[in-house]
Amino acid sequence: MNILTMTLGYPRIGKNREVKKALETFWSGKSDAETLLQTIRDVESTNWKTQLEAGIDRISIGDTTLYDHVLDWSVRLGLISDRFRHLTGLDQYFAMARGNDGIPALEMTKWFDTNYHYLVPEISANSSPQANFAEFLATVQRSQALIGERAMPMILSPVTLLKLSRLEGDLTAHLHNLLPLYSDLLTQLKAMGVLAVQLHEPILVTSTAPDLQTAVTTTYQQLAQVGLPIHLVTYFDDLGATYPWVMELPVAGISLDFTRGRNLDLLNQHGFPSDKQLGVGIVDARNIWKLRPEPVLSTLEAIQSITANISLHPSASLQFVPYDAQRETQLPEPLRNVLSFAEQKLEEVMILADTLSGSDPDDRLAVLQTQWATFEQFNPENERVHNKLKNLTTNDFQRSLSYSLRLDQQLPLPILPTTTIGSFPQTSEVRQLRVKYKRGELTEADYQAAIDAQIAECIKLQENIGIDVLVHGEFERTDMVEYFGQQLAGFAFTEHGWVQSYGSRYVRPPIIYGDVARPQPMTVREFQVAQALTKKPVKGMLTGPVTILNWSFPRADLSRQEQAFQIALALREEVADLEAAGAQVIQIDEPALREGLPLKLERWSEYLSWAVDAFRLAAAIAQPQTQIHTHMCYCEFGDIIKDIERLDADVISIENSRSNNRTLQEVTAAGYAHQIGNGVYDIHSPVVPTTEQLVQQLQSGITNLPLRQIWVNPDCGLKTRRWEEVVPALKNMVEAAKILREEANANAK
Ligand code: GLN
Ligand code: ZN
Repeated sequence: MNILTMTLGYPRIGKNREVKKALETFWSGKSDAETLLQTIRDVESTNWKTQLEAGIDRISIGDTTLYDHVLDWSVRLGLISDRFRHLTGLDQYFAMARGNDGIPALEMTKWFDTNYHYLVPEISANSSPQANFAEFLATVQRSQALIGERAMPMILSPVTLLKLSRLEGDLTAHLHNLLPLYSDLLTQLKAMGVLAVQLHEPILVTSTAPDLQTAVTTTYQQLAQVGLPIHLVTYFDDLGATYPWVMELPVAGISLDFTRGRNLDLLNQHGFPSDKQLGVGIVDARNIWKLRPEPVLSTLEAIQSITANISLHPSASLQFVPYDAQRETQLPEPLRNVLSFAEQKLEEVMILADTLSGSDPDDRLAVLQTQWATFEQFNPENERVHNKLKNLTTNDFQRSLSYSLRLDQQLPLPILPTTTIGSFPQTSEVRQLRVKYKRGELTEADYQAAIDAQIAECIKLQENIGIDVLVHGEFERTDMVEYFGQQLAGFAFTEHGWVQSYGSRYVRPPIIYGDVARPQPMTVREFQVAQALTKKPVKGMLTGPVTILNWSFPRADLSRQEQAFQIALALREEVADLEAAGAQVIQIDEPALREGLPLKLERWSEYLSWAVDAFRLAAAIAQPQTQIHTHMCYCEFGDIIKDIERLDADVISIENSRSNNRTLQEVTAAGYAHQIGNGVYDIHSPVVPTTEQLVQQLQSGITNLPLRQIWVNPDCGLKTRRWEEVVPALKNMVEAAKILREEANANAK
């Protein structure tokens, strides 16, 4: 018996980040459109060849993109807002992606629970879309020339697309407009000799899916009439309550994710229709670990006992992992050999297919087994960490005094105190310093002296401006997670492990591979340097445990909760050391706390429970006199306010300018009683806010609030801004706070 193998998408940034480089040269005007498009086509055909050579039977076609695959579908379907209509071609495309001459770009948001961000389609009430599939069809044609019948076009389903859009009016009406366009596309693909298509329908795993039964059923009934076999693809979680009716849809195959959620239970409970093929997403596309043969084989056995008609594939698009783990020659071999990036994942799919069809001559599964055993020897458990975790008590998660009692013991400050979020401009001079140090062109002493000079200037500047609580500026940090990961045991870093965050922005997430521990203090030196230069309080600056976890590739053999707690324990030691070094204020940033929320609402509370505990574990060691701050960016608080309260931070700084005070209102309306850092201006904009604007922003935001509860600060770190913008903006901010402070004091008299 031969088992079919398939892919659901592949990395599309180029093995050497060719797409980013091509985009940047194009945007800077140094190359033309044809050069850019040729780069995309080269990356694409290299990807196809890799998958062909790996032996994949059905290779997904059409996800390679100039910026974002959701934007591509908006454009193909002619879903283009009026403000972009006067533009054409690439000008229009990139204006939608990045804005242009005062025309705001489409909004960007997270793609389900991944760290990839897509551009939100905008669909107005009177939208009458006109499709243009020429470019997509040309791609399919190119793929057929290269890989023939293996080419399997992947299409974003209209229901998922609409649910992800900013929609004016009713979904059904828009769906009615879109379906003929999709039918038309399928008809053309059929005429081209395509054997089958993938329709990607990830919305089916979310909490809103049960409401979509009519829309989804109508869609597949209508599209089935074309007569081209449709393979319905889901991923990231299980089908939940939708399982029974999804099985009834008139499609040739259905793909389910067996690496997350409870699809196996659903399969056991409801069975699988004999007229369809089950696509088994069994090689985890969201992590970078090789599979462990035993659990995977037992899952496959269970699946095969229910249906024999299966195909095997990664659990989702491989865009969430880098290209090739074997390139990471700097990593110790035992670790490298258990890493699996896209190329290794393809191989794993093939190993499983061969094993199931009884023809794995080289016994590659046994090789995997040995590689894991070698890794475990190389990376033994850290008993100290495990014992500490085992012996935690509720007291370890609890500050010794409650907020109201510790408040009076904390440092005295004027009302409306001013501060910043941590980082100051990362000039090319600062970046050069770090690069030279890393290359060994600068001794440690020289490097530190140069960083200290930056700190000194930054402190002087903040003093001159009159800020109340100072920061050292974070000049020694490339990135708020990497900086800590590099100093913690249990983390590894890759050379080529880039994944797309959005558009031309790629990140290299750290890999958590072992028990996390802190060999020595990570931030104390820079804090001390800064604090020695001023009588004003300097904040110690840490990245929180949940953010470090959510922005890394986690281990697969330990729960996320345990990993978060291990990181929290390391940070807890850092908090104690900062305090011992004289820090009266310590900030623990958690911008990614909300990002970790599971797709299904019913699993939120479980996540929030341990995520908040992890923060508390890191912070609770602080003495009552130490003021603990946290910071979160661009996040809605309304539905998680109880959890934000449970963080028990003394101060939380939030975005509040872009949302026009909405965030502040949300937080205070819910009765949040601790202090709030009011992010009074948008650091993403180069525009310097005037004192009048800032006074107005503050006045309108805080009229109904006790002034004692409010801090004044920018809405995020300043590292992406230039000094010429930062200095006047902060001056105006301090001036605005002063004006309101004097007003309040006068009123009090
Ligand atoms: N302390 C960090 C900084 O200022 C916070 C960054 C963030 O919230 N993303 O850069
Ligand atoms: Zn921020």
